[in-house]
Amino acid sequence: MNNAFRYADDLGPAKVILIHEPVCGLKAVLVVDNVAAGPSIGGLRMAQDVSVDECCRLARAMTLKNAAAGLPHGGGKSVLFGDPRMAITDKERLIRALACALADERDYIFGPDMGTDEQCMAWVQDEIGRAAGLPRELGGIPLDEIGATGWGIFHAAQVALAYCDFPLAGARVVIQGFGAVGKHAMRYLALQGAILIAATDTGGTIHDPAGLDSAALTALKETGRSVIDHDRGSKLERDASLDIECDIWIPAARPDVITEDNVGRLKTRLVIEGANIPITPAAERLLHERGVLCVPDFIANAGGVICCAVEYRGGSQSEAFAVIEEKLRRNTEEVLKMSCEQGLLPREAAMRLAAGRVRKAMSTRRWRVF
Ligand code: NAD
Repeated sequence: MNNAFRYADDLGPAKVILIHEPVCGLKAVLVVDNVAAGPSIGGLRMAQDVSVDECCRLARAMTLKNAAAGLPHGGGKSVLFGDPRMAITDKERLIRALACALADERDYIFGPDMGTDEQCMAWVQDEIGRAAGLPRELGGIPLDEIGATGWGIFHAAQVALAYCDFPLAGARVVIQGFGAVGKHAMRYLALQGAILIAATDTGGTIHDPAGLDSAALTALKETGRSVIDHDRGSKLERDASLDIECDIWIPAARPDVITEDNVGRLKTRLVIEGANIPITPAAERLLHERGVLCVPDFIANAGGVICCAVEYRGGSQSEAFAVIEEKLRRNTEEVLKMSCEQGLLPREAAMRLAAGRVRKAMSTRRWRVF
């Protein structure tokens, strides 16, 4: 019994729900972590190896991310066991079944995450009318197509540069994970004169110290090819992006890519975390001690969830861009200022800011977490 509450602390989780429907083989978990600020919003992740633990951790991350972004939403997450590449009719059946099972859980708003997309959200919307990240035809704002998260990363970088001693124009950028987040972040940075010198995907790293054509790389990726199929620059191993000296390093791929073991390889001045938990806490501390500024993930990559929240209230694409810009700039400034003034790691400052907002919201409620 105690084990069942191993993630319980003063912030949550409010509810952990296991869902099982043998007729269609549905196995899923919903964690509603904290709804003091409003109904929780968080993605539905579909993979074969998801777990209750992962769902609890991701739900808490959403509580902090939504609070840090100042959204009227708590944090929640759902995971669905299964191969997201299964036959589309089977996937539709599972997702519709999951939506029906959670029809009365009004404290949770579905969003897309790994293994799910806007089509999946359209099925949820059809069943229960409570999803964000919908197709454009249903009033959705296609956040990956417009680069909502990349737009936020660009603003986080601009604010962070006031705490560094170099300008954006001419800054050399390395993007690890040239996907939806990475390529759009680079597109916005390049408009202000930043130079892409290396980009990585699962195929490898492409590197040219004189600068790569990020638009050409994006076009290449859109045809399903790898960055290393680009006709300029040297083709290197995937992990070579860690060794390339640069001014701004943007992880936008997988969790835990920088650890205590390889952090010594990074030769950069500023890290903007596009991916979720790309750097372990110990490695972040080592970077801080070396004077490398790291803007933490749940501050820097909040553009996607802000876009979902704007969409959920019926807002438009241009409103989403404006809200992301305003929130990312204000929050990055607040976190970095607190970090400098109080001698904290940026992540510690971000945690204080977010947890403080959650506790303030909780203080207005009769029941604290639900
Ligand atoms: P994506 O699938 O569009 O792009 C990921 C890219 O990373 C791909 O090009 C892939 O080839 C590359 N990649 C995968 N493993 C790699 C590795 N080990 N080394 C180098 N490159 C690798 O995904 P995305 O939507 O851009 O998301 C990237 C990360 O950002 C994920 O961690 C995601 O959870 C996080 N994130 C995404 C959003 C969003 O709005 N899409 C919002 C917040 C956080």
